[in-house]
Amino acid sequence: MKRIIIESLTYPRMMMLSHMDAERCPLHLRFDPGYEKCRGCERLRECQWLADHNEFQALSEKPVQYLYDAMLFCIDFVESRSTLDGHNVGRCACEDCSWIRDARYLSHQVGEQLASLDAPVAPHPISC
Ligand SMILES: [Zn+2]
Repeated sequence: MKRIIIESLTYPRMMMLSHMDAERCPLHLRFDPGYEKCRGCERLRECQWLADHNEFQALSEKPVQYLYDAMLFCIDFVESRSTLDGHNVGRCACEDCSWIRDARYLSHQVGEQLASLDAPVAPHPISC
C-alpha cells in the first residue's frame, strides 16, 4: 500500500516543481522555515511540502497516516489548479484530472484502512 501511495505522489511533486521558479527564489527552493522570505512567499505551502516529501527522503519508513495526509494535500493542490483552469474533474481525460480520480480512489481505500485500524476491537465473548 505504501509503495502505491509513494508512487502516486510523484505526479503532483513534478507538477509542483514545474510551477516553482527556482531562478526567482533566493534559496533556490531549499525551504527554510526560519527565513523571513520563505514565510512570506506565495509558494510557501508547496515549497514546504516538497521539502518535507522530497524523493530522497525515506518515505517508505513514514507511517501510512503521514503518506495519507501527503496525498490529501496533493489532491487538494492538483484539484485547485484543475478547477482554476476550468476542468471537469469527473469527466475530463487530461493527465491532471485522471490523476485526481485515481488519487481520490486510492485515498478512499487508504482512509478506510486507517479507520479500521482505529476502530475499537470488539471484546471477546466470555465462554463458560
Ligand atoms: Zn482535466
